[in-house]
Amino acid sequence: MAKILCVLYDDPIGGYPASYARDAIPKIDRYPGGKTTPSPKQIDFKPGTLLGSVSGGLGLRKFLEGQGHTFIVTSDKEGSDSVFERELPDADIVISQPFWPAYLTAERIAKAKKLKLAITAGIGSDHVDLQAAIKQGITVAEVTYSNSISVSEHAVMMILSLVRDYIPSYKWVVDGGWNIADCVSRSYDLEAMEVGTVAAGRIGLAILRRLKPFDVKLHYTDRHRLPESVEKELNVTYHPSVESMVKVCDVITINAPLHPETEHLFDDALIGKMKRGAYIVNTARGKICDRDAVVRALKSGQLAGYAGDVWYPQPAPKDHPWRTMPHHGMTPHVSGTSLSAQARYAAGTREILECWFEKRPIREDYLIVDGGKLAGAGAHAYSVKKTA
Ligand code: NDP
Repeated sequence: MAKILCVLYDDPIGGYPASYARDAIPKIDRYPGGKTTPSPKQIDFKPGTLLGSVSGGLGLRKFLEGQGHTFIVTSDKEGSDSVFERELPDADIVISQPFWPAYLTAERIAKAKKLKLAITAGIGSDHVDLQAAIKQGITVAEVTYSNSISVSEHAVMMILSLVRDYIPSYKWVVDGGWNIADCVSRSYDLEAMEVGTVAAGRIGLAILRRLKPFDVKLHYTDRHRLPESVEKELNVTYHPSVESMVKVCDVITINAPLHPETEHLFDDALIGKMKRGAYIVNTARGKICDRDAVVRALKSGQLAGYAGDVWYPQPAPKDHPWRTMPHHGMTPHVSGTSLSAQARYAAGTREILECWFEKRPIREDYLIVDGGKLAGAGAHAYSVKKTA
């Protein structure tokens, strides 16, 4: 029997919800492009309920304990005294979400002698040291596509919020004001602006598609080019380098994975090449931007706004400068964990576990590391340091 160690975010401060704002969520069977949504044999939760917090347990408790496995769920993940660190040495499987990542560093992996499978309930396995996982023969899997559309909706919302300067206007209302000039003195239309995405994978492409009706001029850079038909359909300009794209854009949205090629890509030098008064929306990973370079650029006016939901580390400390820098629209890491997304990635996690226990292959699309190398989706989107 296996020991499954699952790290999830805390329940709401008012307690686990007794009821919800809506009675149901729409059922989606296929993603754009035709791949099927997760299809475990069974689920033991109601879609639309809170699954990503400790009491939700990703809806896995009945399934795992019913088969005689040990299922430990905790939010306590930092430091040598944490439940995660204490339970890790004899865990067979670790499950964690990028929103509240259980960082599986090389040191932790070295201590986790029995660990065979690390599942990301969601997308983005950069909280796992992939090189160490490769070395120790650990399979890393994530639920590819489960929250890509959720994130793309959030990114579009943030682009509009920044350009139109929505958040300060909302605050004036809450504070009892009617200060129209204060509200509009940094407010613009998105129409006709040049908007570029760093990476046009599942999320980046979904953002391009959603922005097209706003009559903006679209740009992208990626390691691979989109099919010509898609470039034509979206009238999107390809840039062979991020530098050439940022020079012409008013808005940049970042949608690449965090790996050695993208870590701290947006530093003083690259931000300095952007148009003065450009905006950055980063829902990919906090470390793709140099924390202090972003703060400097907002203070100097080089950037007119920065928004996103990804930070380093997570949770962000109380004194993280992105909480207080000017003209930001940051949220905690929430874009990929709407109740709608949770239903999909909880089902995907269950599907991966069913495959694992029944010794059936995990969908190729879900694999990041397998058999001692980058595999499936991981081989396509990630890189590891050449020193591996
Ligand atoms: P995909 O794998 O579909 O797309 C990633 C794209 O990034 C690929 O097209 C890949 O190129 C490209 N890429 C990789 N490296 C570079 C680079 N150096 N420069 C330019 N492009 C690059 O992933 P998704 O769209 O589903 O997700 C993207 C990222 O978004 C995830 O890795 C994750 O970090 C983040 N994410 C955030 C969430 C949130 O809640 N905020 C939730 C889900 C994901 P190639 O075609 O060559 O492989």
